[in-house]
Amino acid sequence: MTTPSQHEEIRQMLSAYLDGELTQAGAQRVRIHLEDCEECRRTYEELARLQEMTRELAFAEPPEARMKELEKSLSVQAPRRLGWLFVMAGIVAWLIYGAILYIRHWRPPTVEEMIGSAIVIGFVLLLASVVVERLRQLPHDRYRRVDK
Ligand SMILES: [Zn+2]
Repeated sequence: MTTPSQHEEIRQMLSAYLDGELTQAGAQRVRIHLEDCEECRRTYEELARLQEMTRELAFAEPPEARMKELEKSLSVQAPRRLGWLFVMAGIVAWLIYGAILYIRHWRPPTVEEMIGSAIVIGFVLLLASVVVERLRQLPHDRYRRVDK
């Protein structure tokens, strides 16, 4: 039989048990007692949950340096993203407009138009390749930022 003072003793060891600071014999004593005693087991589970929550909070809170890094990258990237958006939207609108004109007033293209088209198509392809490259680099950027 366990006496009330033994429960008290076990409960005082629980925190050290959770932290893995007990000796092997001490840890075994706590473990055996927890198997038999529901009341102490409940205390233990509550303590474990509390410790888990504290650990999660510590993880969730980003260090100040990381916050500053994040702010910096946001203030740099937001205007850049907006710039890309405008460029892309403009090009798409222009292509649609050109396609409509082309369909409505079809005639054999002049040399000037063919040269112009070649330049436009080349420019769009270059731009597309840059966009694809940037998209591919995004996850890489993120990892590098976290590692710092
Ligand atoms: Zn107990």
